[in-house]
Amino acid sequence: MFEVRNQPPPLEPYSLFTSDTVLREAVRREGAGWAEGNLTELGARLGRPETVQLGFDANKFPPQLRTLDRYGHRIDEVDFHPAWHQLLEIALQAGLHSSPWENPKQGAHVARAAGTYMLGQIESGVYCPLAMTYGSVPTLRHAPRLADEWLPRIYSREYDRRFRPARLKSSALIGMGMTENQGGSDLRTNTTRAQPSADGSFRLYGHKWFMSAPMCDAFLVLAQAPNGLSCFLMPRWTPDGERNAIFIIRLKDKLGNRSNASSEVEFHGAYAQLVGEEGRGIPTIIEMGNYTRLDCCIGSSALMRQAVAQAIHHARHRVAFQKKLVDQPLMTNVLADLALESEAAAVLTMWLARVYDESTDTAVAIRRIITPAAKFWICKRTPFLTYEAMEVLGGSGYIEESIMPRLYREAPVNSIWEGSGNIMCLDVLRALERTPNATEILHQELGAAKNGRITAFAARIEKRLAARDHADESQARALVRDLMVALQGSLLVRHSPTLVSDAFCASRLDGEAAPVFGLLPRGVDTRGVVERAGPAG
Ligand SMILES: Cc1cc2nc3c(=O)[nH]c(=O)nc-3n(C[C@H](O)[C@H](O)[C@H](O)COP(=O)(O)OP(=O)(O)OC[C@H]3O[C@@H](n4cnc5c(N)ncnc54)[C@H](O)[C@@H]3O)c2cc1C
Repeated sequence: MFEVRNQPPPLEPYSLFTSDTVLREAVRREGAGWAEGNLTELGARLGRPETVQLGFDANKFPPQLRTLDRYGHRIDEVDFHPAWHQLLEIALQAGLHSSPWENPKQGAHVARAAGTYMLGQIESGVYCPLAMTYGSVPTLRHAPRLADEWLPRIYSREYDRRFRPARLKSSALIGMGMTENQGGSDLRTNTTRAQPSADGSFRLYGHKWFMSAPMCDAFLVLAQAPNGLSCFLMPRWTPDGERNAIFIIRLKDKLGNRSNASSEVEFHGAYAQLVGEEGRGIPTIIEMGNYTRLDCCIGSSALMRQAVAQAIHHARHRVAFQKKLVDQPLMTNVLADLALESEAAAVLTMWLARVYDESTDTAVAIRRIITPAAKFWICKRTPFLTYEAMEVLGGSGYIEESIMPRLYREAPVNSIWEGSGNIMCLDVLRALERTPNATEILHQELGAAKNGRITAFAARIEKRLAARDHADESQARALVRDLMVALQGSLLVRHSPTLVSDAFCASRLDGEAAPVFGLLPRGVDTRGVVERAGPAG
């Protein structure tokens, strides 16, 4: 037998909270210091080998659709591996699906963001129903009677995997059906019809081209009612205790996100109830979209963090050419550059989560402008980062037994769903146009850094805004990228050690954010940046 040498030990057990300096700092800074105890517990639980294994199992044994029972009756059920259920159980116990609504307080959205940031590092597929359930609450509140009935179930922390009417379950999860075959970004093209019934409910006829997590207990769905496109709550079971007429046609065979089921569905007179005003479907459901977009920032930052933690861990143990990889100057440069991107994403995400804890006019304006901008930029950076981090592990990074292929396959999805990249940038333009004091708000946020480079960079952006650059759709990506790099720089200057903010500004503000990592200029304390980012034991 050959001797196994020079292989790093697995990065487990480890605490995803206490080992993450950037996350711990952000939780405290953004007002969720009170949650440190719970986050420490959750971080340790998620980093146990048996929990890590759940993530692998849930992806290795993807969900299976059963359209018919043995006698030929339609059942439209999806079977998941037990690992999927165990992960959801952990998530619900920690309140990751609804805690800020169940127990609102300063820092509640930040605390939840920190929890989902850790969960997303272990398994991302389960994040989908959690995000949709979290986002559904403000939309459901547009229908007070429905909210009274459903919110207590949504707030429950007792995960109930059984497929039965929600009133017979200990908790409920909510999904969403907007995208149709002929159009997902342009929701006005939705053709699903909603026919009013005598009792005030509606019957839905049509299809959805993507409806993820189809075993959720109810879905927020868009459909054309007599007075226009409207938002509905469509439960899996009717109030009479019958299976609702929701037929799952097939499950998508996806690039990544494989533990999660994403379905194509048809509605053949499915029972549903109106949420919000008839004809105001898009503004009603878009409230959910703001929160799920925040979750895309959290989810992609999580993928980056896990990739960086694995890469640094590997480089600390693996020796090549008589030195640990982490000590090879060119590798140190690559790792530091990856760490900078990850820290910038995490700091921006946690700051944005705090803005969701506030209700001032400025906070509302920042949410409107920055949520789509941050989603665009963070999600766009993730595939590049996960790919480069994979390479740090050499050939082993390309092998399924490492988590890297899973992170890489998962990386593009947050940019596509909940509004693809271009749609996010166009949203930013609209928000800039509609927010009268947008330039002042951005000036204040960027200028808070008191840093020459940031000030100069921000001044150039403000000049472009004054020149109404944002009226030109073709330049939206360039504008949003610059805005986000400036904001990340400003936040890092204010909140991170100088060695991090200097390196970020030197590499991101003085040139283009390059798709290749490892281009940090001379003079950067790469070693210091890597030490800060490495998962502490
Ligand atoms: C894994 C997965 C799960 C999903 N789950 C759900 C779900 O649960 N519920 C749900 O409702 N949807 C879901 N979706 C659908 C997703 O939200 C849509 O795919 C997405 O919104 C894009 O819509 P589309 O696919 O129709 O693309 P299109 O709308 O055709 O867009 C195609 C491309 O054109 C760009 N584009 C569109 N308009 C413009 C414009 N005016 N200017 C410039 N560029 C433009 C877009 O940015 C995109 O890059 C899921 C998707 C995936 C991949």
